[in-house]
Amino acid sequence: MQLVHESILTELKASGKLPTPAGVALTILDLTRNPDSSTEDITSVMKGDPALSGQVLKYANSAASGVREEVTTVNQALVHLGMKVIQQLCLGISVLSNARTGLCPNFDYPRYWARSLARGVAAQILSKTIPAASPEEGFTYGLLSGIGTLGLANVYPREYSEILSSRQSGSRQELTDLEMRELSINRHQVTCALFEDWGLPENFQKAALLQDLEEWQPLPDDCSTLPQEKYLARLLVVAELIADIFLATGPEQEQLALRFLEIGDSLDIPENSWGETFDLIKTEWNLLGQGMDILTEHIPSLKSLKRGAEKSEKLGELGKTAQQPDETESSPKPDQISGREMGDKQIGETSLAAENLLAATEAGMHILLVSDNRVEQRILNKMLSSAGHTLTLAQDGHKALEMALQDSPELIIANWTLPSINGLELARMIRKSKQTSGTYFIIITSHDGQDQLVEAFEAGIDDYLLKPLNHAVVNARLKAGKRIIELQKKSAQDREELRHNVTTLGKLSRQVERMALEDQLTALPNRRAGLDRFEQEWSRSNRNKSSLLCMLLDIDHFKNVNDTHGHDCGDIVLMETARVMKAALRDSDVICRFGGEEFLVICPEADLSMAMKIGDRIRQAVQDNEIQCPGIDLSITISIGVALRNGNQESPKDLIKEADLALYAAKDSGRNMVCIYSD
Ligand code: GH3
Ligand code: MG
Ligand code: MG
Repeated sequence: MQLVHESILTELKASGKLPTPAGVALTILDLTRNPDSSTEDITSVMKGDPALSGQVLKYANSAASGVREEVTTVNQALVHLGMKVIQQLCLGISVLSNARTGLCPNFDYPRYWARSLARGVAAQILSKTIPAASPEEGFTYGLLSGIGTLGLANVYPREYSEILSSRQSGSRQELTDLEMRELSINRHQVTCALFEDWGLPENFQKAALLQDLEEWQPLPDDCSTLPQEKYLARLLVVAELIADIFLATGPEQEQLALRFLEIGDSLDIPENSWGETFDLIKTEWNLLGQGMDILTEHIPSLKSLKRGAEKSEKLGELGKTAQQPDETESSPKPDQISGREMGDKQIGETSLAAENLLAATEAGMHILLVSDNRVEQRILNKMLSSAGHTLTLAQDGHKALEMALQDSPELIIANWTLPSINGLELARMIRKSKQTSGTYFIIITSHDGQDQLVEAFEAGIDDYLLKPLNHAVVNARLKAGKRIIELQKKSAQDREELRHNVTTLGKLSRQVERMALEDQLTALPNRRAGLDRFEQEWSRSNRNKSSLLCMLLDIDHFKNVNDTHGHDCGDIVLMETARVMKAALRDSDVICRFGGEEFLVICPEADLSMAMKIGDRIRQAVQDNEIQCPGIDLSITISIGVALRNGNQESPKDLIKEADLALYAAKDSGRNMVCIYSD
C-alpha cells in the first residue's frame, strides 16, 4: 500500500535530515521483518547497545507496560513484551536519541519530545478504555505520531521556522494549510511516509493522515464498519489533549482538564476512576521522562485542576477563552515567555543553540580534556584558557565518551594512559559513533616510537602531543587543529547548502507538479488529472469486473451570474459549488473541474440502481447551498448527465460522450435535474 507518493519520501531522504532510527534499532527492524530470525538474534544485537537495552528494561519495568514481575534482562523483556513490541520500542527510543536537537530556530525540541512522550503514555494507558490498539501499539503510535513535524523542521529548518511564526489561530488545520502552501507537503504525509518506510502497521499510516481532527468524537451507533484507523485517530485526540494539559499552565491547563473530564463523562466513566487514569498517565510520564532524559513537569491531579477551574469560574476568569494549545512546539515569542522557569530556560537555550549552529563561530574551541593527572590538568587548563578556549574535564575514558556524546566538543585532548579504557580505545570509540566521529582527537603520550605512533593513528587520532608538554608546541598544534576543524565546518556548511538546494528543488518540483494537476480556482484536480484518474479507474473496473459510473455536471445559467453580479462573484460561486459537490461524494469518488463551469465525476463500484440516488444527492446539495458573495447571497442549480459503463463503450471517452448527451437532455428538459443515458 502506498498512501503518500514515494517520490516525496525519496526527496526528503536525499536531504539526509529525516529522523531515522540508528544502527542497532535498524538491524532490529530488519530482523523482526525476517521470518527466519530468532529471539536470540535480537537479544544479541540489542546487547550491542547498552543504552537502548537499558531503556527497554526501564519501559518493561514501568507500571504502564503491564508486566508484573521485575524484568532484569533483555531476554525476559522479549518474553514478556513480545518481538513486535520490542521492535516498536527500539524504533521509538532510537529515533528519540537521534533527534533531540536540530537546526530549526523556532522549533522547541525538548518540548516536542515531552509532548510526544505524554502522547505515547496517554495513548498506551487510555487504550484500555478507548479501544483502538494494544497498549504497546498505542505507546509507539502516540510517541511517533508527530514525527512528521520533526521531519519538516529538520529538512526545511528556515522555512519551517517561518511557518511556525506566521501562524495566527494555532489550529492544526491552519498549520497544515501553511505547510501545503509553503512546502507542498504536510507533516502528516511525512509521518505516514516514515511509518511506511519503517514497516509500521497500515492503520498507523492511515491514522497519521487523520491528525487534524481536534474534537473528540463519540462512536457512531453503528460502528461495525468503522475502519481501524478511525479508532486510532479518536484515541489520539484524547492523548493529544492530555499532552496539551501537561504542557499548559494556569487557567489554560484547568480549562483543558475540564474538556478531558467531559470526555470521561461521554464515555460513562465515573469521575473518580477517570481521575485515577489521568494521575497514572502523569506519574508514568514523569517516570519514563526521567528514564529517557526527557524534561517533564509536575502536574496537579485532575481533581485539583477541576477545583482550580471552578474557582476561576467564580472569579469570572473563565470568560477569557483558553489559548489554542500548540501541538507543534513552536518556541514562544519573547513577549510570551512567562511562568515556568525550567521550560522557558530550555526554550531559550534551544533557539540559541540552533542559531549558534547555523552561524560559524570565530571564537575559541570547546575542548574536552581527558586526564586523571592533576598537574597536567592544571597546566593545560591554564594554557588553553589563556588562548580563549573553553575546557571541560573528564577523569576517565567512560566519562569522556559520555560527555563527548552529550556536549559534542570540537576537540578532544586525551592522555594515552587512563583508568578503565585508555586513550587509544577511547579514540576508536569516538570514531565509531556517528555523532562523534568527526571530532578532532589529540593524544598525549610519552611514547614517541614509530610503532606506537602508527598504532595511535590507526586507532583514529588526528595528532599527538609529547610529554613533557611545551606551551609553544601545544599552541601550534591547536592552531593546526583549529584550521582543520574550520575547514570541516565549512565543508559541512557547503554540504548543508547543497542539501538545502536539493530540498528546495524538490519543493519547487512538487509545487510545479501539483499546479500542473490542480485547478487553481477550485483546488480540484484539473481536466488532465481527472482524465488520468478515469483511465486508472477504467483499468481497475476491467480487472475487477466492477461497475463504473460517469457524470457530467454543469451549472445552470452560469453566464447570468457573471453578467448580473460580476466575474468575481462567478468565481466564488464556482469555488463554493465545487466544495459542496465534493462533500456530497464518497471518499472513493473522483471529481474534477472539466472546464469552465462543467465538472466530471467518476464513481467506481456504483451501478445504475445508485446512479439516480448519487446524482440527486449532489443536485440537491447544490440547490440547498446558499452562497455568500459580497453584497448578495444567492443559490444556483446544476444539471447532471449520467452514463453507466456497460459493454458498449471502448474507452472512457465513449462514456463521457454518453454522459454529455444525457447532460444535454437534462438541460433540454428544463435544467436542475439528473438524466441517465440510455440508447
Ligand atoms: P447553461 O445552463 O446552458 O449551461 O447556461 P450557461 O450560462 O451556464 O452556459 P454558457 O456556456 O452559456 O456559459 C458558461 C459561462 O461560464 C461562460 C463563461 O464566461 C463562464 N466561465 C467559465 N469559466 C469561468 C471562470 O473560471 N470564472 C467565471 N466567473 N466564469 C467562468
Ligand atoms: Mg452552464
Ligand atoms: Mg457549460
